[in-house]
Amino acid sequence: MALIVQKYGGTSVGTTERIEHVARKIKTFRDKGDDVVVVVSAMSGETNRLLELAEAVHPHARGRELDVLLSTGEQVTISLLSMALARLGCPARSYTGSQVCILTDSEFNKARIQTIEQERIREDLGKGRVVVVAGFQGVDEHGNITTLGRGGSDTTAVALAAALKADECQIYTDVDGVYTTDPRVVSDARRLDRITFEEMLEMASLGSKVLQIRSVEFAGKYNVPLRVLSTFVEGPGTLITFEDEDMEEALISGIAFSRDEAQLTVTGVPDHPGVAYKIIGAVSALNIEVDMIVQNVGAADGLADFTFTVHRNDYERAMEGLREAVEKLEAREVRGDTRIAKVSLVGVGMRSHAGIASKMFEALGREGVNILMISTSEIKISVIIQEKYLELAVRALHDAFELAGPPEERVDSAGT
Ligand code: ADP
Ligand code: ASP
Ligand code: MG
Repeated sequence: MALIVQKYGGTSVGTTERIEHVARKIKTFRDKGDDVVVVVSAMSGETNRLLELAEAVHPHARGRELDVLLSTGEQVTISLLSMALARLGCPARSYTGSQVCILTDSEFNKARIQTIEQERIREDLGKGRVVVVAGFQGVDEHGNITTLGRGGSDTTAVALAAALKADECQIYTDVDGVYTTDPRVVSDARRLDRITFEEMLEMASLGSKVLQIRSVEFAGKYNVPLRVLSTFVEGPGTLITFEDEDMEEALISGIAFSRDEAQLTVTGVPDHPGVAYKIIGAVSALNIEVDMIVQNVGAADGLADFTFTVHRNDYERAMEGLREAVEKLEAREVRGDTRIAKVSLVGVGMRSHAGIASKMFEALGREGVNILMISTSEIKISVIIQEKYLELAVRALHDAFELAGPPEERVDSAGT
């Protein structure tokens, strides 16, 4: 008998039939004698629908009131799932984030979980009930409803598993594990049996939205055994683990990509000490995260060009802040581009192998894909390219690094 935390994502609870399917699945674990705590997302598309409603009444809706609205999506699915479980003779209790005291800070729309009270959950489990908790939401110390950022139900599940010291945290979704890249883009992508926390963290932060970044951080920090599986097909899924010695070290574990990118460039900046600070500082002061930065100084005129990237949602604000700062610097010009994308190779094997970058650039060059910016770390190489070449680049790299799985192992993403 084990204590398992299971999370079912939006597609998995996207219709009442699917909610009934999930209830039957949970019952099989109860029938084996396991204690089950379930976290659910809103029905697929619901959070986007709520965001559109908010936009209709206020074009820059954010903060406290937005969280009151967004949290309603998950309240629908916890109750429906609990009813479906009850109908199967499987007693269940649903709880919102505030009812089980998922205490967060007060950063509305991207709050961080601080503590979770276990008393009520343990009491219910002791009475043989399935506990169904709303993902993505919490409550701050003043009793305000908060949400955890898009994809935040993953983090609710991992945080609950950490608090309850669960035997495993299972993330059920519409793919049967973590793949070498998004199987929606590369049809012969291969499912990984295991991936390290370090690699998964890079994949998630570089754009693979199969797990929210914070859920992976949390699982690594609190040593939560974490597995990604399909709601619709049986299988072992992918285990997220610590690196161990007999783990076969793949050179490249996966390819992540993101369209959430925008580039800003300031040209012809007089090259004095402190200019980098004046440019980047102006953007950081707006609480905007700057990602890649490149500076070149022209040999002939001694003037510098700065290029950096930000999240596409922050582009307009960053541009405004930059224009103001640049006026004082007497730079030649400020320009921007929102039609760029980032592609990254991730793998712990990179640490001990040279030549990965040149192989990557060769593969992209062969396809005529121009590289606009490059950044590297110990276990990843990222490039910025024009967005229109994104899918071509991902497929070319997947082939060049021979990441495809044997045809017989390919499983279509189920249920979608
Ligand atoms: P859920 O609603 O269950 O949380 P998400 O849509 O958030 O599901 O995450 C699952 C999706 O992540 C998949 O449908 C897939 O398209 C996408 N994805 C992106 N990168 C990967 C990857 N490397 N492996 C598996 N899925 C990926
Ligand atoms: N419903 C939220 C979202 O769509 C949280 C989640 O699904 O994890 O982002
Ligand atoms: Mg998700």
